[in-house]
Amino acid sequence: MTGEKIQKRKGIVHINHEYCKRCGICVNFCPVKNLEIQQQKLVELHRCIACKMCQRYCPDIAIEIEEVDEKTVGTGKSSHRNGG
Ligand code: SF4
Ligand code: SF4
Repeated sequence: MTGEKIQKRKGIVHINHEYCKRCGICVNFCPVKNLEIQQQKLVELHRCIACKMCQRYCPDIAIEIEEVDEKTVGTGKSSHRNGG
C-alpha cells in the first residue's frame, strides 16, 4: 500500500529579488520545504502547494504565490460546468 502523498505543484512562486532580504522567514514557514536560500538568493524548488504561508509572513512583501490549476489526476469525479 502506498501511504505517501504525491505532492503536486499547485503554485508558482514569484520572488521579488529587489525586495527580498533573504531573512529566511518564508523558508522556515514553508511546510513542503519549497524555498531555500542558495548562494545568497532565495530560490524555489517547484513543489509549492500554494498554502501562501510565505506570502503571508514575508515582512517585505517580496514573495507572491500564483495558484495554478493543473489537471487533477486520480479523482473519478469531474464536476465541470460549461462556463462559457
Ligand atoms: S520572508 Fe520575504 S524577505 Fe524573507 S527570505 Fe522570504 S521572500 Fe525574502
Ligand atoms: S505557498 Fe506555501 S508551499 Fe508554496 S512556497 Fe509558500 S510556503 Fe511554500
